[in-house]
Amino acid sequence: LFVEMPLAAGAEVALTEAQAHYLFGVMRQAVGAPVTLFNGRDGAWQAEVVRAAKRGGTLACREQTAPLRLPPDLWLIFAPIKKARTDFIVEKAAEMGAARILPVATRFTNSERIRQDRLQAHAVEAAEQCGGTFVPEVADLAPLDRLLADWPQDRRIMWCDETLLSARAGLGQAGPGPWAILIGPEGGFSEAEQARLRAMPQVTPVSLGPRILRADTAAVAALTLWQSVLGD
Ligand code: SAM
Repeated sequence: LFVEMPLAAGAEVALTEAQAHYLFGVMRQAVGAPVTLFNGRDGAWQAEVVRAAKRGGTLACREQTAPLRLPPDLWLIFAPIKKARTDFIVEKAAEMGAARILPVATRFTNSERIRQDRLQAHAVEAAEQCGGTFVPEVADLAPLDRLLADWPQDRRIMWCDETLLSARAGLGQAGPGPWAILIGPEGGFSEAEQARLRAMPQVTPVSLGPRILRADTAAVAALTLWQSVLGD
């Protein structure tokens, strides 16, 4: 279970109404039940239910069971698509070990707004589900132009574009760095965006094969490719 507060031996953790509903209503847990807690900073902790109520409850932290496992310094930048597919991208990126998730508005992005809080909650659920001790931060929607204007010198971009059919080997030959993966919207990148990316020394163009993948498929394929070639 993900909680906000610091975790340490003896610390008491107050449950939110939703957490109490999940633990006591859905999972049928009661006083004395063991629960694993993490907060994204202090690793995993074994805790025990000491008070159970309909709208809340308290857990007592006992001992640390795993240290904090940080993912590689990998960001996923993507243009939001339909709601369920955007949720899918955030969920899979959190499961696959992205450290930051950055939704961007591109020329052909069809959704103008995102619910950052909902997407962050999806990242928390994904981390809970795969036993992680870290939750990636989901940023608010920002224009791609602005993100690229302030782009750090040392962070490389794995730019995935279906029009780059000959750029398969680029990733293995690129220099070291922290990395970011960039995935476009349903309509792909505009010519101006492609020219801008091509001109940046940090950018490595990458093809994910000869088929045009849906953006959500491409995000998972790119995360897998990165993990396989450059991950630990
Ligand atoms: N119209 C489809 C959809 O509904 O999602 C296809 C979208 S495709 C243009 C979306 C993004 O996925 C592209 O901007 C690119 O980042 C990535 N992508 C898809 N196929 C790819 C491929 N074969 N190689 C590299 N990137 C790819």
